[in-house]
Amino acid sequence: MIIIRGMTGKHHSEETKMKMQLSHKGQYVSNKTKKKISVRLKNRQFSKKTIEKMSISAIKRFANKQNHPMFGKHHSNKTKIKLHIAKLGNKNPMKRYDVRKKVSATQQGIPLDKLKSFSNYHFVHKRKLKYAEKNKIKMQSKYTCKLCGFIGQTFSLDVHHIDYNPQNNKLDNLVVLCKKCHAKTNVDRKYWRNVFK
Ligand SMILES: [Zn+2]
Repeated sequence: MIIIRGMTGKHHSEETKMKMQLSHKGQYVSNKTKKKISVRLKNRQFSKKTIEKMSISAIKRFANKQNHPMFGKHHSNKTKIKLHIAKLGNKNPMKRYDVRKKVSATQQGIPLDKLKSFSNYHFVHKRKLKYAEKNKIKMQSKYTCKLCGFIGQTFSLDVHHIDYNPQNNKLDNLVVLCKKCHAKTNVDRKYWRNVFK
């Protein structure tokens, strides 16, 4: 009896790899086949062990910035426009209701099914605080970030809601932060609420 074991635990030699690469060159894949492949890739499931392994190897790989495929490269303006269009409107996952809910849950540190209050900023409130009002508050703070003391122009500063309620626009609930510091305040909200009180 012949037992076929495949490639588990073995590796191709560099020479074989080159040969394989050459044999695939110029190969044409039809759109039908591409779709089949994409469906198969979407439906695949990894065991917990494999996911752990993958995450560890990714962390190792990107610990050195030079290993990133975009290191030292830049997108051309054409590609930038393409990327911009691809994420417009509902195609941007951060603007989808279900995704926003998930993100909100992880930011607040609550499991998804226990999440009750969820300020769906992008759908319900849509910029309650107007630009002019924001600029006024920024002027009053002399265009400085309250956390790091960064002094910048209006577009590099944000107005942060201390209680994370975008409808509470009282002056004692608003703090001017730079973009970097504002991004920090979205993780560990309990901690940041105490910092600004
Ligand atoms: Zn700052």
